[in-house]
Amino acid sequence: MQRGSNLERLGDYNQAVILEGIRLAPEGISRVELAEETKLSPQTVSNVVRRLLDDGMVREDRTIINGPGKPRTVLQLENNRLLGVGIHLDPGVMTLVVVNLAGEKVAELSRPLPSGSQNEIIREITDAVNVLIRSNRHKRANYVGVGIAAPGPIDVANGRLINPPLLDEWKNIELVTPLSKSLRMPVTLSKDTVAMTIAEQWIGGGQGHNNFVFAYVGSGVGVGMVIDGQVVHGVSGNAGEFGHFVVGETGIECKVCGREDCVASTLNPKYLLQQAHEAGVDFGMTEAEIEADPSAALGLMATKARDGDKGASQVVLMVAQRLGAAIGTLVSILDLDTVFVGGHTWNDVSELALDLVSDVINRNHLGAGSHSVTVRNTALGTSVGAMGGACVILDSHISPRASSLLLR
Ligand SMILES: [Zn+2]
Repeated sequence: MQRGSNLERLGDYNQAVILEGIRLAPEGISRVELAEETKLSPQTVSNVVRRLLDDGMVREDRTIINGPGKPRTVLQLENNRLLGVGIHLDPGVMTLVVVNLAGEKVAELSRPLPSGSQNEIIREITDAVNVLIRSNRHKRANYVGVGIAAPGPIDVANGRLINPPLLDEWKNIELVTPLSKSLRMPVTLSKDTVAMTIAEQWIGGGQGHNNFVFAYVGSGVGVGMVIDGQVVHGVSGNAGEFGHFVVGETGIECKVCGREDCVASTLNPKYLLQQAHEAGVDFGMTEAEIEADPSAALGLMATKARDGDKGASQVVLMVAQRLGAAIGTLVSILDLDTVFVGGHTWNDVSELALDLVSDVINRNHLGAGSHSVTVRNTALGTSVGAMGGACVILDSHISPRASSLLLR
């Protein structure tokens, strides 16, 4: 059943709508144009803009004269008035970024993934956030909070990780409440691929796209989906577990799901490097060097493939086939036309794999003929996870959401 509207919050909602209108107009926008776009009355726009000016969220940038009538003052976002910290927890590494209202990355920090007891983990994350905040010139008061992007499954209601694959020590670690206490700011927890998809929609290539899938190929594999302009969260905030779709027939057993030939097991960097080794690819690196820096080895493999090495090409082709088959199924089910791909492993092979994956997806897309599917690299680079966390916290602070009007 539809719930009622909480009229006291309508003002907040209108403010969020207008702020969003200004945010999405990097060249600036006038009050008249805002009223036209939001369908709000000129009086409401004027009142809200006054509030935003008083809060320092926007500034009057310049006056333009456009035909007869009163000159118009162009409003521009005060980009650094609000900032969000994003944290991506990934096996081995924790990446932190600061993102401003305009979606610009203001600061970045990487640290080894904390380990130990829950208290030790909270202490290390707190320290890293404080170091990051102190590393730039912006006031702490401008920070709206911290958004954590973590591998699923996560327990959103209680702000804790459940049993993230490849992160044994992080089983049942509670993050949101203790971290919020120690940092004295709001903290959110999202599944990494959901957060990345929000970043893609907010500040990446997904801006203006209402239907797309974001595929992450890093330590794990997952997807995020945007349907009719809405990011799919699922019942528990864990939507997008496609890493364990079965796509191959080589009989490699997955340590996480126990199935053979799931996407995650066949796109695991270790497995790919072993395949390349068996296909006779000479990395010019010792086993210990490869183990220490699999990303460098994967990059080398991609370079060799591009230069025509047969064994290396076989492996890249396999990546494309399996990833493309899995994404192609999803694209057909949801009838999507755009795919973004990102993540460390993808980054290492994307130069060659992008076109191949695009071919496979378009071949596997059962709606082919109705429309084609565009496949693109994420423009947000390998810090897309942390950027996602930051976008989630900024988004929760400012984005207009009809749900905020519902009675609770
Ligand atoms: Zn699996």
